[in-house]
Amino acid sequence: MAMNRIQFQPGLSLPAFLRRYGTESACERALQQARWPQDFVCPACAGTRHSRFEHRGRPMWQCSSSSCRKQSSLRAGTVFDNTKLPLTTWLLALYLLSQSKTNLSALELMRHLGVCYRTAWRMKHKLMQTMSERDAGRRLGGLVQIDDAYLGGERNGGKAGRGSENKRPFVIGVSTNEAGHPRHAVMEPVPGFTKAALAEWAGRRLEPQCDVYSDGLGAFRAVVDLGHAHTVIQSSGRAATEQANSRWVNIVLSNLKRSLDGAYHAFAFCKYAHRYLAEAAWRFNRRFELEALVPRLLVAAARCLPWSERRLRNVPVYVS
Ligand SMILES: [Zn+2]
Repeated sequence: MAMNRIQFQPGLSLPAFLRRYGTESACERALQQARWPQDFVCPACAGTRHSRFEHRGRPMWQCSSSSCRKQSSLRAGTVFDNTKLPLTTWLLALYLLSQSKTNLSALELMRHLGVCYRTAWRMKHKLMQTMSERDAGRRLGGLVQIDDAYLGGERNGGKAGRGSENKRPFVIGVSTNEAGHPRHAVMEPVPGFTKAALAEWAGRRLEPQCDVYSDGLGAFRAVVDLGHAHTVIQSSGRAATEQANSRWVNIVLSNLKRSLDGAYHAFAFCKYAHRYLAEAAWRFNRRFELEALVPRLLVAAARCLPWSERRLRNVPVYVS
């Protein structure tokens, strides 16, 4: 069965991780490779001529362009900026968040890393932000199953959660191949299940001319206006999960809810829903590549701009 290929992957064992990322200098080399795979590139002028020196035991680069002369550290301008934590602690967080089968809460991260809760919260949110930015441009193509759902509650009768801060509407899309196997997923909050909101979502998240399958929610007809074929799955409840064209979106959705329900406090979870959903989608989209996830997340983190705690906490609140 297809799922076994994922579940029985060897992944990256802890001893193998420690051999690769067990010292500060090994982590510095890994971050340098992730950030500048060929050679140093000046963040200010994109020049490559440079000199190197050490400042307080950490490697520094100075741009040799006479009009620039900018000094750069390995971390400045990345998601690791403005933190005194050793890179070994950061890499361990990358390891735990990427290898865990389900979502790992900030509280668990705090215990594993031996840092205070606030530090663990910042690390977790910075890395979820990294995952979110990495998948921000992903579009689903071909056969796409989509569904509407609420975080913090089910949609019963269409009124549940409306205007409530601890319930967030979101759209989940799963693309499948011709054999009916899932390829990629996108999960993202929407301001509400209106035709305008769904059209905006589909405009960003679907490639042209998809075959879209959904339940009977009227707003999903917005995809037709964008040139997609749209099939409404008529059955409801249990029978729907058995239909091939809605099977995977239902499986991914129920796995998501099970994994999130156990890990997070509802209110905080809903406020930052876009990041938690992006984390789950990032992991799903890379489910066949468990062993390569640490270096891949490190590359994404090196490209993600710094996020202050204030900016992390300042998220738009949707009113549905
Ligand atoms: Zn420069």
